[in-house]
Amino acid sequence: MFGAGIWLWESGLKTLSMLGAFEQATERARSIREWRIADSRGNILMSRPMTPTDRMLLPPRADLYQALIDRAVELGVQIFTSSVVTAVKPEGALVLESGEERRADLILIANGAYSQLRESILGTAWMDFGIEAGIRMLIDHQPGDPTDIITEYWNGPWRLLFNPCTSGENYIFLSAPVGDERARKLPIDRNLWKEQFPDASGLIDRFAEAGRWDRLVNVRCRQWSQERVAIIGDAAHAMPPNLGQAANTAFINVMALAMAMKDASDIPTALRDWETRQRPLTDHVQRWSYLYGFVIGKWPRGFQSLRSDILRSLGKTEWFDEGISRGARHVPDGYGVELPPVQARPALERGIS
Ligand SMILES: Cc1cc2nc3c(=O)[nH]c(=O)nc-3n(C[C@H](O)[C@H](O)[C@H](O)COP(=O)(O)OP(=O)(O)OC[C@H]3O[C@@H](n4cnc5c(N)ncnc54)[C@H](O)[C@@H]3O)c2cc1C
Repeated sequence: MFGAGIWLWESGLKTLSMLGAFEQATERARSIREWRIADSRGNILMSRPMTPTDRMLLPPRADLYQALIDRAVELGVQIFTSSVVTAVKPEGALVLESGEERRADLILIANGAYSQLRESILGTAWMDFGIEAGIRMLIDHQPGDPTDIITEYWNGPWRLLFNPCTSGENYIFLSAPVGDERARKLPIDRNLWKEQFPDASGLIDRFAEAGRWDRLVNVRCRQWSQERVAIIGDAAHAMPPNLGQAANTAFINVMALAMAMKDASDIPTALRDWETRQRPLTDHVQRWSYLYGFVIGKWPRGFQSLRSDILRSLGKTEWFDEGISRGARHVPDGYGVELPPVQARPALERGIS
């Protein structure tokens, strides 16, 4: 529940509606009209407009997490925290730190990019620690700050991303080459960011003291499942956040999995079919996220204006728009299908233990 916002695209929003978590997750979120990429002086290089049927809402992460937790608990899901899983068995068992074993019809490995459990089914094909890292923070909103436009400023490999988030807060993301010691400092080294983005020095003065630094990693799997175990979310397909679509992709895949399991009599086969169906879209989103960061991050410093010219031209093409938006515009499996009402059951163990 750290201080950051999250881009929720149309596909993710549709999923949240299906889950019954949309209202709570997005209650405070800003509705975004446009995502802009700009050079360090603010000259616009690319614009990606939103429409009422191709939306982006931007809540704080904590609002999204709380909405999902509340809805799960409402439906009778038991949540155990401080409960570390040390191994998973393909036949449908997980092993806890205490040595205790739990059996299930289906086990989902959803423990993030650095998942070791993934290796319980030899899932990893490739993990790339990437060339970029970044800091996220929330700062106070002030009168005059944009309320519906995201702007992503680039200077060489440094990026300053401004996001309207709620009526009281903006979300800032700063990224830089992973080896840049000054760029990973917390509290922020304001001078570094002012050197790179002198026109934004007023904003940089308002940066928070606290933030969270992460490397931007990529994960590809050999397979997403074995027998009764499936890998999902970042554990299956972590990607750098250049399109803001990794969690949205996880939502789409989870919903497709739920639909695949609805009438499945043979879980291993249903899991394989699910991967065959979902993998091409996931690979597409991941490839575009990766290439975006790689090309921009590796671009030679002496050729900045050429980079700007290329982005300006490419950004106007349908090919580019489709490339960056295919995942965002995807209609999740089961959307619009009349689902039987879920019986809310009293939770055996409510909330956080
Ligand atoms: C800088 C940045 C910005 C991003 N912005 C966006 C965005 O705007 N939009 C978007 O769609 N995506 C975004 N993402 C990606 C998004 O954050 C991830 O895709 C998402 O958090 C993945 O969720 P997850 O549940 O798969 O994994 P995680 O969020 O990593 O959660 C994994 C959980 O598993 C737990 N865990 C780990 N190991 C074990 C174990 N052995 N036993 C029990 N529990 C365990 C962890 O404690 C953690 O709670 C961004 C990512 C970054 C780095």
